[in-house]
Amino acid sequence: MYDCHTHPLGHEGGDYTIERLRPFVERGMAAGLKGLAFTDHEWYHRQIDAEVVERLREEYPSFKVLLGLEVDYKPGREEELREIIAEKPYDFVIGSVHHLGSWEFDHPDYRDKYNRWDINALFEEYFTVVAQAVETGLFQQVGHFDLIKVFGYRYQGELLEVVEPVLQKIKEQGMVVEVNTNGLNKPVQEAYPTREIIQRCLALDIPLTLSSDAHEPRQVGQYFNKIRPLLRSMGCRQLAHFEQKKMVIEDF
Ligand code: ZN
Ligand code: FE
Ligand code: FE
Ligand code: ZN
Repeated sequence: MYDCHTHPLGHEGGDYTIERLRPFVERGMAAGLKGLAFTDHEWYHRQIDAEVVERLREEYPSFKVLLGLEVDYKPGREEELREIIAEKPYDFVIGSVHHLGSWEFDHPDYRDKYNRWDINALFEEYFTVVAQAVETGLFQQVGHFDLIKVFGYRYQGELLEVVEPVLQKIKEQGMVVEVNTNGLNKPVQEAYPTREIIQRCLALDIPLTLSSDAHEPRQVGQYFNKIRPLLRSMGCRQLAHFEQKKMVIEDF
């Protein structure tokens, strides 16, 4: 298994040093992973130093160290993002939606804003923006596909009907959906995406990646041993990761 979403700079930023990154690799190896990807938030893109990652690759030849980026997609940012992505030799880029307008809807400080929305309309709005992110063609992996459920609000009715057009676009673009275990640390207490959406991805042959979304080393590979039997019970036998923008599929 590969952990395809980690944040060595967390939310503090600071220097991108080998000392900062090494504990993530050590934790990944201890957890029995075959590799991991550093995918810091795009607002730290200037700090990210591909040479530090290259040095880690030399230090750990038996462990695959990948460099990605988690982009905060908002409609209208396409050209700016295209430039940021082109700056460094990223193996892949995660497209994530954390904002609706100026509302950072996954931040606990702004949770009260959910009360201003009809929850079904909110889910539909969120997935409209995810679909726009997918359509840009800028990304290889969709980050925490149904993040809008983070505080436990649920769509009333057939969620699969809302997400089907988005999944079709993901398939057309040849993208992957990450199974992000960090949801287990959040009020919703389940991975992203929800089980029925994972099932639909498998039915559509949309490849999956595994992600902890670790913001500190001890979180690398977190809950993977819990999610693995669940995925296998759903018929999933292979997982993806990206090397130099090429998808690699392996048994797990
Ligand atoms: Zn973060
Ligand atoms: Fe995110
Ligand atoms: Fe993240
Ligand atoms: Zn994330």
